[in-house]
Amino acid sequence: MTVNLLDFDLQGLTGFCERLGEKRFRAVQLFRWIHQKGASDFDAMSDLAKSLREKLKGVAQVKALAVLSEQISADGTIKWLFDVGGGDAVEAVFIPEDDRGTLCVSSQAGCAMGCRFCSTGHQGFSRNLSSGEIIAQLWFAERFLRRHLQRQERVISNVVMMGMGEPLQNYAELLPALRTMLDDHAYGLSRRRVTVSTSGIVPKMDLLSQDCPVALAVSLHAPTDALRDNLVPLNKKYPLVELMAACERYLEFAPRDFITFEYCMLDGVNDQPEQARQLVELVRAYGGARPWCKFNLIPFNPFAQSGLTRSSTQQTLVFARILSDAGIVTTIRKTRGDDIDAACGQLAGDVMDRTRVGERIARQRTIMLKPVALHKRTVEET
Ligand code: SAH
Ligand code: SF4
Repeated sequence: MTVNLLDFDLQGLTGFCERLGEKRFRAVQLFRWIHQKGASDFDAMSDLAKSLREKLKGVAQVKALAVLSEQISADGTIKWLFDVGGGDAVEAVFIPEDDRGTLCVSSQAGCAMGCRFCSTGHQGFSRNLSSGEIIAQLWFAERFLRRHLQRQERVISNVVMMGMGEPLQNYAELLPALRTMLDDHAYGLSRRRVTVSTSGIVPKMDLLSQDCPVALAVSLHAPTDALRDNLVPLNKKYPLVELMAACERYLEFAPRDFITFEYCMLDGVNDQPEQARQLVELVRAYGGARPWCKFNLIPFNPFAQSGLTRSSTQQTLVFARILSDAGIVTTIRKTRGDDIDAACGQLAGDVMDRTRVGERIARQRTIMLKPVALHKRTVEET
């Protein structure tokens, strides 16, 4: 069996090269070819000795994910559905904005957390992605976008681990992928521009603060344990006092001086003015006197089985106002890629229901759009 080189961060690749009898700088060269130049063919790696290239061919490969579909939204958002084998598929979404390009990356096929408002949660858990499968999403998207936009320089400036799955539930595989994102010999992303989003796995938040302190987003969704228990079942294990204390601890190591709380706006469930006031009280009890968190209110993206509806714009604005009047920076997330179901909680519908994956893919293929101009730039089709 050949080794997938995408599974390694630089340290892992160095170890691998050493086992082949190669020096450390060879690993750096190889790492740069793979992640900076997007190379997968060893023969293209012209400054590697021919003998090393031959050796690599026998034992290793750069194993990309097979793309099942690619959809490009009218607003420039691109969603890819990747086949990860065994009937499972995961998605990555590219969101272009004027000053950045963000890739939303999946960490698991399905999710075991079972949050009520999340379609991935409703599907249940299938399996953890390997480190290589996580980084392959970035590897592929960056390579695609450079070609598509005919750009030499990096297109993806930000990564958010907000696709399918709970990243901290797949900690061991997440870590090398994060390190590769940050490595100057690979993607060279700033810690401030790589965000791990978690439903609140407290011990793993502490580990992350030590191992690889990137920006942190916590999916809060409720101001009280009674409600959060119901929306995010993990709360029964790590209730709000523990979660908030973990956020406080994380802040000491965080690359930014705040943590982002995500809050999905559910009509009549968690969107009442009284609940906004409870949130203000909750965050004031932690983090000291200075502002230490931001709120990102996410309009709920409904799906059939949830039995929930999206809060009205008016209700969301009132809620946001209460938070911001209390000095908490609050934003309302724009929904992007609506026409291709690329919004939060709408990713890869049918992972558990394997028989339907093929059907869904077939459906997606038929609605695949032609490449259109990304951003406001005009781009020739490639
Ligand atoms: N498992 C991680 C990251 C993936 S979900 C987490 O829960 O944080 C990314 C964000 O999308 C989370 O804040 C999640 O609560 C939110 N989300 C999930 N389903 C949604 C839906 N149907 N509408 C809007 N946001 C949703
Ligand atoms: Fe999993 Fe996050 Fe969805 Fe909850 S919101 S079920 S943790 S992916």
